[in-house]
Amino acid sequence: MIMIDGSAGEGGGQILRTALALAVVTGKPFRMHSIRAGRRTPGLGNQHLAAVRAAATISQAGLEGAGLGAGELTFRPGPVMPGQYHFSTGTAGSAMLVLQAVLPPLLLAAEPSRLELEGGTHNPWAPPFDFLRDAYAPLLSRAGVHLHLTLKRHGFFPAGGGQALADIQPGPVMKPLTVLWRGTIRRIGVTGLVGRLPRRIAVEETTVAARELAGYGVDTDIREVDSVGPGNAIMVKIECEEITEVFTAFGQRGVPARQVGAQVAGEVRQYLDSGVPVGPYLADQLLLPLALAGRGEFLTGEPSTHTRSNIAVITRFLHVIFDVRSDGPGRYRIACRPQ
Ligand code: ATP
Repeated sequence: MIMIDGSAGEGGGQILRTALALAVVTGKPFRMHSIRAGRRTPGLGNQHLAAVRAAATISQAGLEGAGLGAGELTFRPGPVMPGQYHFSTGTAGSAMLVLQAVLPPLLLAAEPSRLELEGGTHNPWAPPFDFLRDAYAPLLSRAGVHLHLTLKRHGFFPAGGGQALADIQPGPVMKPLTVLWRGTIRRIGVTGLVGRLPRRIAVEETTVAARELAGYGVDTDIREVDSVGPGNAIMVKIECEEITEVFTAFGQRGVPARQVGAQVAGEVRQYLDSGVPVGPYLADQLLLPLALAGRGEFLTGEPSTHTRSNIAVITRFLHVIFDVRSDGPGRYRIACRPQ
């Protein structure tokens, strides 16, 4: 039984999702205490509970203590069972984070899977659908496993109600990824997204972001989408020869649209100026594919606490070592190798 302290490092939901995913991959049971103790609302939230149940469903796991608000949990997985599943967070909780908990074992399973996901698809503090489809999935394909994502309906906080399909085509093994170059920039697309909110919000956000990124020659696009409740996001997709990155900012009541546009432009500018291929969110999410391959490396900016905590959890389950080294000002090389 692997014992995990959920308050370590970042002390958030990612520690739990990584443990769930790797418990199913390896067949190793774990017990976690102090779940999300680093958060304002500690314990299992709806989204986390949905992830626990999803991981338990695909592996017929034995569960102890999995209730709303629970701070402790025991998870004993059986063998992974690929297939057709429907997982819902029941709220606006991110359905994309539920996917994060079950994707690794399904990518290595013997048969394909199809997941119907319901909940939030575009949530702050979670990977937005577009990031997973345009930035993450292509890297998985390069590693020899495939995730095809289809968005049926956008789901925003607080109403949720989004729907997405994840078609998972596993490969016999995960191939090591090496992501050290960005290559030339092919296109930067700025998309303003509104559901049940005035179009002018997205217009103002994209205008500001496009102005701040004017030197790069960006394309802009406004999308008015169908959603259960109101929501707004601005996404910037940077397509380069070797990698595509996606940065997102979310509209909030009381925050002027121009500020939201400037925020995402600031993140994009920082990424472009740094010259590294892998942005901060992709960095913590790429660790798992590298560890499952047993090898690989990428160049990124200063490692986030999510990255450091994720490394700590991964190495509890898999016999790999991560080497994090400075590669010049603001540049870090993260390499994975067998122990
Ligand atoms: P909590 O910490 O409250 O439990 P949580 O369950 O949402 O929240 P975190 O531990 O904060 O989980 O993990 C959030 C995940 O979402 C991380 O993998 C992070 O990289 C990813 N993420 C957050 N924002 C973005 C973004 N804008 N684009 C892509 N990925 C994101």
